[in-house]
Amino acid sequence: MDAATRQLVRQRAGFRCEYCRLPEAFSGLRYHVDHILPRQHGGGDAPANLALACPHCNLCKGPNLAANDPDTGKTVPLFNPRDHSWDDHFEFRDGRILGKSPSGRATVWLLQMNTDELVQLRQRLFALGVLW
Ligand SMILES: [Zn+2]
Repeated sequence: MDAATRQLVRQRAGFRCEYCRLPEAFSGLRYHVDHILPRQHGGGDAPANLALACPHCNLCKGPNLAANDPDTGKTVPLFNPRDHSWDDHFEFRDGRILGKSPSGRATVWLLQMNTDELVQLRQRLFALGVLW
C-alpha cells in the first residue's frame, strides 16, 4: 500500500477510528489501515476496502468478517465503515458504544469496545468536548 493511499484513508476518516470513533490524537498510538475484507479472504488495497482503525479495534477484529449478535446468537456480518452509516448501527451513551443493529451489536462485542479503560477514556474526552 502506498503512502498516498494511507493518507487518503487517514484523511477520509477524519483521523478517527472508523469503528469506535476514538480520535488518533488522543490515543497516543499510530492507527492502522484496516482491510475491511481481510487480505487472507481476498481483500485488496483499494480505498473502498480500507478503513482507519485504532490498534484495539484492528487487533480485536483480526481476520473476522462476522460475529454473533449477542441478543440473538445469530452470526451476522460485521459493521462495514464503507457500506454502513455509523449512526445507523451504533450509539454513544455515557462513554459506552451500544449496538443498534445486529451488525452493530456483533461488532461492539467482537471489538470489545466497552472495556473499563475505553469507557473511562471516552467519558473524559466527552467531558472535554472532544467526542460527539
Ligand atoms: Zn477503535
